[in-house]
Amino acid sequence: MLKICTTHRTIMKPDINGVVIEEIANGRPYKLWLADVWTCGRGCRVALTAYAPAAEHYQEDYAKFKANAIENGTFLFPTGN
Ligand SMILES: [Zn+2]
Repeated sequence: MLKICTTHRTIMKPDINGVVIEEIANGRPYKLWLADVWTCGRGCRVALTAYAPAAEHYQEDYAKFKANAIENGTFLFPTGN
């Protein structure tokens, strides 16, 4: 599957693999996603998640998983609508 930047009409390439993104819902931490960041090479970047979240807010290891990601530098950012 090709990932294509529709703004620049270029084929996107992998930029950073294995980052963690936190999904925020209703102002609270909701899910942690493992993602790969792709770039079009002209300034656009997109984070593509795995099929299932790495951790959900109700799971015991949620905070530990997030803390580990922050500690090892793979935590990218929180996001929400
Ligand atoms: Zn682009």
